[in-house]
Amino acid sequence: MINRTLPIVALTILTFPFLLLAGHNRQNTIHADPEIPKEGDHSQAVLFLSEYVQHESVSGNERNAGKFLKAFCKSKGLHVEVFTDEIDSYNFAASLYPLSARKPNIILLSHIDVVPADDPSLWTYPPFSGTIADGKVWGRGSFDNKGVATMQLFSILEFVEKASRKDLPYNVTLLSVSGEETGGEKGAEVVVENFLDKLNPLVVYGGGGAGVTGISQAYSELPFFGISISQKRILWWQLKADVPNPGHGSVPMDSYATFEVIRAAKAIKAHRPALHFSDQTIEMLRTIGSHERGLRGFVLRNIGFFRYFVGNMLRQEPLVAALLTNTTNLTGLSSTPGAFNQVAPEAFARFDSRLLPEISNEQFLERIQKKVKDFKVEIEIIRQFPTSPASETGTYYRAFEEAILRSFDEAVVSPIMFVAHNDNHYFRLKGVPTYGLVPVILEEEILGSIHNVDERFPIAGLKKGIKVYADLLQSLLTKK
Ligand SMILES: [Zn+2]
Repeated sequence: MINRTLPIVALTILTFPFLLLAGHNRQNTIHADPEIPKEGDHSQAVLFLSEYVQHESVSGNERNAGKFLKAFCKSKGLHVEVFTDEIDSYNFAASLYPLSARKPNIILLSHIDVVPADDPSLWTYPPFSGTIADGKVWGRGSFDNKGVATMQLFSILEFVEKASRKDLPYNVTLLSVSGEETGGEKGAEVVVENFLDKLNPLVVYGGGGAGVTGISQAYSELPFFGISISQKRILWWQLKADVPNPGHGSVPMDSYATFEVIRAAKAIKAHRPALHFSDQTIEMLRTIGSHERGLRGFVLRNIGFFRYFVGNMLRQEPLVAALLTNTTNLTGLSSTPGAFNQVAPEAFARFDSRLLPEISNEQFLERIQKKVKDFKVEIEIIRQFPTSPASETGTYYRAFEEAILRSFDEAVVSPIMFVAHNDNHYFRLKGVPTYGLVPVILEEEILGSIHNVDERFPIAGLKKGIKVYADLLQSLLTKK
């Protein structure tokens, strides 16, 4: 019975944190006709988002859009401080009070850059038109991350007048950074390494998943909001084989570089990754289980016990495995170039590993080393990050949860681990409590448009998101 039920549990319950994952590192830039069909009356937030989308800002080209956003913030009475203004990046803070006031700061974090639009002919409206139609704003960035920035900005603007009259206990900053889609080195990392003291952050509310329905089988309309309090981290590494050989393709050989690398890569792939049920994952499953009936609910509420019976099954579902295991993908093979009849003296296999927070880089690499010990290869680290501590589910987490519950009746809110890398990581590394979630409910169709053709964001969601952020700020600013 358990065997029949669990795959369904696994598939339908554990997939949601992945819905917002998307590709990175794309480079081409599209220039589309700025043709803007508009309809009806729209609030300032909607018109602003439309215009922001029209300021094309594919990663590395944020400056123009950043300056537009900065000018808008300034015109609305926010205090602006530009951190970096470069040809390929733009990072700035727009705050209720000047940063020099040194008030503990509530940071709403978003990124200026967008991924490329690829083929504009596939889009219903030109990707950088910011078209307003069918109750949505259309275009690259309309949700990711310009829609998010718009919600954050317009919630902050609700407090400008109050902040000028009253000495509020905290500052609030809209922090806009570059290069999130390409790893954050030009944006969040620069800000955290050089301007953290200036920012004086109390808490950061950044990107993450959105609310989704259909998680609970018993109550399919029940919205689920996973607030990320930790995340997996990147470990990029490669196997290098350096095997001296006669060099000529006509000589029979038992061992040579390309062959060693392939054999070692195969040994890594053959290995079954261990399952790790962190306290956080168990808590998340229990939370979902408490909104389920029957066996499904029973299994989830007691997943700490059932994990011993369902491990193999969970491991076979890639999306579930991402939540419970370290994952490793072979992302490329190469060797030193040469003539067709030359055996390459060096060969490389590149791997992209994503590590669970509770596993150290050393622990992971030790496991890899054991698997490849029989082959003539060595491990080289290309890029790694230290583990960052999970943010606590205390005051700032609860304030976010309460703000969500005020707008979404009977929603289920739970802390989660985010399975991708985003800018939140840099703040957690410095010990700043950081919470990742976009407080709107996105239908599957809209989710599927992110990083894809016809990205669009419903106006109703935009308005609701502004309210959630405003409620959050209201509760934090009136707390002493
Ligand atoms: Zn993105």
